Amino acid sequence: MFGAPGAGKGTHANILAKKLKLIHISTGDLLRKEVDKNSDLGKQVKEIMDRGELVSDKIVNHMVREIISEEKCGIIFDGFPRTLIQAKKLKMMMAEFGRKIDAVISVDVPIEELLHRIEERARISNRSDDNEATIKYRLNEYRIKTMPLLDYYEKSGLLLRIDARGSIDETSAKIIDTINKNLKTNGMSLP
Ligand code: AMP
Repeated sequence: MFGAPGAGKGTHANILAKKLKLIHISTGDLLRKEVDKNSDLGKQVKEIMDRGELVSDKIVNHMVREIISEEKCGIIFDGFPRTLIQAKKLKMMMAEFGRKIDAVISVDVPIEELLHRIEERARISNRSDDNEATIKYRLNEYRIKTMPLLDYYEKSGLLLRIDARGSIDETSAKIIDTINKNLKTNGMSLP
């Protein structure tokens, strides 16, 4: 699940995971847990996350590798991959464990709406990276490092783009519908 900060990728990954009985893996949540535990990894990444920068590919790839190697169920990744290096590593890891990527879903929201949503979330989320300076940085990181992946996955024929300007329910229905149509053309159907 792809999307800029505030686009709702976490919300939609969660809904989709429940509907399709997938394991929802948010690399942001995993990293925040490490920060809360004050583990060595948490100490290493806290300042980076607070600044709104991306954590190193090495750290994130290692975390994801552990999950893919242990988890046999279907997985929906939320916020991973975020760089071309991560995307290439994911492809290698999936091949290594005999798995494949079925779809890459991008929830698309225009910038003005994103800023509005992030402001709203900042009021209730209690996240240390939901403040004005950090948000600008995170949007920039997304634009420079993550957006090029859309082109990468478009070329692989995996990208499903969803106009996510509407309500959560509307967007969620669109996602299911788009996945269904896409699977049908591949001769499959949703459970
Ligand atoms: P998120 O909850 O997905 O918005 O992620 C919050 C923060 O966690 C990001 O701003 C990054 O600092 C870090 N993070 C999460 N996923 C990744 C990733 N795939 N690569 C690098 N940093 C990540």
